[in-house]
Amino acid sequence: MSAIKIIPLPLGPFQVNTYIVTCRETGQSAIIDPAGEPETIIDTLKREKATPCLILNTHGHPDHVLANAALKAALEVPVCMHAEDSDFFSDSPEIGDLERQTGLTVDTVADRLLTDDDRLQLGAATIQVLHTPGHTPGSCCFLVAGHLFTGDTLFVGDAGRTDLKGGSLDRLIRSIENKLFGLADDTRIWPGHNYGNRPTSTMGREKIENTYITDFILDP
Ligand SMILES: [Zn+2]
Ligand SMILES: [Zn+2]
Repeated sequence: MSAIKIIPLPLGPFQVNTYIVTCRETGQSAIIDPAGEPETIIDTLKREKATPCLILNTHGHPDHVLANAALKAALEVPVCMHAEDSDFFSDSPEIGDLERQTGLTVDTVADRLLTDDDRLQLGAATIQVLHTPGHTPGSCCFLVAGHLFTGDTLFVGDAGRTDLKGGSLDRLIRSIENKLFGLADDTRIWPGHNYGNRPTSTMGREKIENTYITDFILDP
């Protein structure tokens, strides 16, 4: 059995994947990309008898941080995000619409600024921060107990957009090549959106099926 339990919750107006990741030994939980509906997240934590410790954002896009402020107030846990994305999207035009639509207040500023290769303790498990810029300058993937939370860096069979503010296709490809490609083939991929033909994948499968890997890295 894995050292962690993972509960995916597609939430908010864009059904972004929020992940509740809990250390089975201690019950301590991290909430990755709280994308809306904070009461659903809180109810799930209660049902699991989990102790929330951290909010982690894979990047700073407003739809991925939408429930940060509400959860931080309710649970008194710190928001962690890479330094380059914290507050980088505070002027996004969609923030007003998201707030009106959901009744939530978007807070784009993190309490703890992450850098590459930071290690965060989650009970008996360790979360490794992999800085993978490209979709945004501060995009990160989080590796814990053989599971990789990829945000909008790597999807099942696809990768994130690079045409938005701060995006770079060249940086995205280099991030996948230098930070993700070398991970074990059985590393399980948990993306920020269900854009593929299955909700999760493995690094080994993506090396065969993901065109960003096959076309840009393996056969450039
Ligand atoms: Zn994004
Ligand atoms: Zn996204």
